[in-house]
Amino acid sequence: MNSRSAPSGVTLAERARRVIPGGVNSGQRSIPGLTEMVIARASGARFWDADGRQYTDYHAAFGPPLLGHNDPDVNAAVAEAGTRVDLCGVAVTHGEIQLAETLAELVPSIEKVLLTSTGSEATFHALRVARAATGRRLVVKFQGCYHGWHDSVSLNVISAPDRVGVPDPISTGILPEVLDATLVLRFNDVAAVRAAFAAHGDDIAAVIVEPVPHNVGCLLPDQEFLQALRDECTRAGSVLVFDEVITGFRHDLGGWQRISGVTPDLTTLGKAIANGYPIGALGGRADLMDLFSTRPGAPAFFAGTYNGHPAVVAAALATLGKLRAEPVHEHVYRLGERARAGIAEALADLGVPAVVTGHGSVFVTYFMPGPAPRSYDDLLRNDAGMFIGYRRRMPEHGIFELPLNLKRNHISYAHTDADIDHLVEATRAAVRDTLAS
Ligand code: PMP
Repeated sequence: MNSRSAPSGVTLAERARRVIPGGVNSGQRSIPGLTEMVIARASGARFWDADGRQYTDYHAAFGPPLLGHNDPDVNAAVAEAGTRVDLCGVAVTHGEIQLAETLAELVPSIEKVLLTSTGSEATFHALRVARAATGRRLVVKFQGCYHGWHDSVSLNVISAPDRVGVPDPISTGILPEVLDATLVLRFNDVAAVRAAFAAHGDDIAAVIVEPVPHNVGCLLPDQEFLQALRDECTRAGSVLVFDEVITGFRHDLGGWQRISGVTPDLTTLGKAIANGYPIGALGGRADLMDLFSTRPGAPAFFAGTYNGHPAVVAAALATLGKLRAEPVHEHVYRLGERARAGIAEALADLGVPAVVTGHGSVFVTYFMPGPAPRSYDDLLRNDAGMFIGYRRRMPEHGIFELPLNLKRNHISYAHTDADIDHLVEATRAAVRDTLAS
């Protein structure tokens, strides 16, 4: 805790900026207006900064801690694993086998599975093996979807209005020929998918999609759209990849594929698998996944020093065990419904045009008239000033929602009904004060 001799957030943040570019270790952790925040402690539904301020956390580190921060059962499993084994980097451990069996049991598309340390590595390898399997070049992604930091998918996430419909890389330093190999389509647009396959089907290695694009808040998919992706990929011999890094385990133990009944060829997972410990996974059809094996002839290369780290695997087994044994989904779905309904009612009282949407534990409020958005284009109508403005005021009420445009909020098993009551009233006050300012 804060003691008189402890350095303040301002001092620590200055030190950080001297030795860490931008003062943070991941894009979108440095927030205008919050550059002096330094995190000190986290537990359950809350975290504390270096100056001792408490926040009820709806950002949730972009999504992993579905059980809440620092879950004692997960931490105990990690500590116990540490007494037995650390990384040996040869062969396999019992825990890796148990985790692979569990993922194959839970997720419909998964016959075989490989572990990574991050979601980006999982999507990278999904596209590599899709290209290896098909001998084709092109990847299809959708405007607004994020699949990690690697070059093939580093374009058209949150694009400015004049960059929608044209290649919009999120970084410089990417070879143009890599960008050229990615086609960007509009989410929920069946006609665009059919047209892309009609024009390029023979050259499409993979379609990668967040079945619910949560990197722009929440766009709910039409069933017909997901089914069209499945049908077109099957017809053209392309690999359908569901990137379930956010939706997997958070929305259902079987991912969105179990909710929708549409089964992809490959699935990428991450975040909620291990409640915050660094993990990703790529699983799917055995014939595709076996291309990663070292059998002669057609190996796709897969590696990673930390893949299947025993501490992380123990965290994942403990997390999945708790998700199965306790009414976690029931709890977070119920609180999510309460949050969305309460916020919608509060904003209606204030006369603010808003779409309060999400699914299960995820909620987001767009400041725009309805109907609910179906693709990224619709989100261009969101009033970013209001979206960011009210979130900047939430810390006055002891609540943290990431004050960046289109970011979603997450509810965990550690949040309570009282937290949601407080959230609704704080949102009402923060929106009212933003309107008045
Ligand atoms: N896919 C999706 C859908 C994601 O949301 C993210 C992370 N936000 C990733 C992939 C990349 O995962 P990581 O940050 O663990 O590399």
